Amino acid sequence: MAKKTKRKVGHRKLPVQPELNLGQEGKHFDLGVMFNQLNRRYFRNRLRNYKIEWGRRRKHPPKDHFVFGTIQEQDRVIRIHPLLDQAFVPSWYLRYVLYHEMLHSVVPDRILRSGRRQVHTKEFNRRERAFHSYYRARRWEEQNLARFLQ
Ligand SMILES: [Zn+2]
Repeated sequence: MAKKTKRKVGHRKLPVQPELNLGQEGKHFDLGVMFNQLNRRYFRNRLRNYKIEWGRRRKHPPKDHFVFGTIQEQDRVIRIHPLLDQAFVPSWYLRYVLYHEMLHSVVPDRILRSGRRQVHTKEFNRRERAFHSYYRARRWEEQNLARFLQ
């Protein structure tokens, strides 16, 4: 007769993570959840296999120019600036930043006659205004930009 052996399963406690700002889950906002909501509401879940993440914190915050979000089409990576993961940032503003980057993946760029690439085309701007808090978000950005700069 075979002996029944009890297998011990060890539940190792995961070490407490130091304040890591990589990945989707920030201290205040979860980008993955926001992405899925936006994808459903505005894009019919058309965006597939995207990686959404907080960017790394830099030692020196920017002085005059602030990039809230970026998208790398080839690798399908959308990166959001970690300074947006703060309590005073309204979630609808962060959603707007994410929506803007997502929109880049569906609205094609235009090459102008000068040879320059236009990414914020008329069509892009038109579709951007479809975001539910577009005007509120633009206003908030104008009024709060200084808080992100050094
Ligand atoms: Zn853009």
